[in-house]
Amino acid sequence: MGVTRALATTPVDMVPRWPDRTLDVAALRAAGHRPVPFRDVVLKVHQRCNLACDYCYVYTMADQSWRDRPALMERATWLAAAERMAEHATAHRLTTMRLVLHGGEPLLAGVDRLTALIGDFRAAFGGECRLEIGLQTNAVLLDPALLDLFVREGVRVGVSLDGTAAANDRRRRYADGRGSSAAVDRALRLLGGPAYREAFAGLLCTVDPSTDPVASYEALLAYGPPQLDLLIPHANWSTPPQRDPSGSGTPHADWLIAVFDRWYGAPRQETRIRLFEDVMALVLGGAGRSEQVGLSPVASVVVESDGSVELVDSLKTSYPGACFTGLTVFADPFDAALDHPGVVARQIGVEALAPACRACPVQAVCGGGHYAHRYRPGDGYLNPSVYCADMAELIRHISGRMRADLHRR
Ligand code: SF4
Repeated sequence: MGVTRALATTPVDMVPRWPDRTLDVAALRAAGHRPVPFRDVVLKVHQRCNLACDYCYVYTMADQSWRDRPALMERATWLAAAERMAEHATAHRLTTMRLVLHGGEPLLAGVDRLTALIGDFRAAFGGECRLEIGLQTNAVLLDPALLDLFVREGVRVGVSLDGTAAANDRRRRYADGRGSSAAVDRALRLLGGPAYREAFAGLLCTVDPSTDPVASYEALLAYGPPQLDLLIPHANWSTPPQRDPSGSGTPHADWLIAVFDRWYGAPRQETRIRLFEDVMALVLGGAGRSEQVGLSPVASVVVESDGSVELVDSLKTSYPGACFTGLTVFADPFDAALDHPGVVARQIGVEALAPACRACPVQAVCGGGHYAHRYRPGDGYLNPSVYCADMAELIRHISGRMRADLHRR
């Protein structure tokens, strides 16, 4: 079996160590830090992709482990994952868990395989816990047969699209260089139409400061998404973001602020934007829902196509093997991953922050930024985000607009 072979052939001194070497899990547990059960399981049903986007963290950044894994997840693997998930729900008396079908590109698995997989997960969750199912796709293969399945099974579909057709086609291309926007447009007209709209979860757009922010937002809005996720592109202190030709020190914040002002100033709510809603909730003392801001405990785990249990895969941008835990769904309950330093570090809040973040006036909102963006070779994740200046500027702007509104009222 792939997992057993992969682990058996990994020399012990090649197993990557978590770089926050000062993190003492036993001491944290003794001090009262209880583990937060996983709510989301990301299932890598297919390791390959039919696009070759130039910023993809799976294929173009530090970790290349996808090369050694099976392209397609076998039924025995997803059955073991379903059993582990149901076991976790029972052990922690969870009332809901979420399965996220992911890749590579999950639609490459095909409608028959996805039908069987979803059926097996539904069967495993016969008890008290409700299973929500989501799927993140580039949408190129989305068709009525798949959408019929998703509507029938209550699967919510998120689609990746980077703004206007021209902006999207600069980065999100097929391997032969053709842009993907025409295929995504066709798919989104189906998904957003009356027959399938209930399956439409939203759009995910990676921020590109070289594009027009408001034109990008309005292009996304044209599809009527229930929600937008605006993602700051993955980077860290060893692979920093590209410099902005305009010379701005905060190009990503500038882009986001332009979209925020357009969205916030609209006469009625046009869509939900998770990053902005999170910042606003955190400014008011609440909690965020995304990994980009705040200090809410991360409660996600990944199951790779060979059954390996891994840390959230944005960490693949850090160094080869950054997501490795040594656990598999065949041998280990998900509880075993709760004590991995890489999970613990993301559940202890302010104690996992670098000294500069602990002293920062916007720490409670920013939370040090995305965990993957803090990495620096040598001292791991104990750094401010490489987007520190952008985070501070975005938060300052949003909280300023909110304050001005509150004073006016
Ligand atoms: S703004 Fe910078 S220093 Fe402040 S919490 Fe965020 S990353 Fe840390």
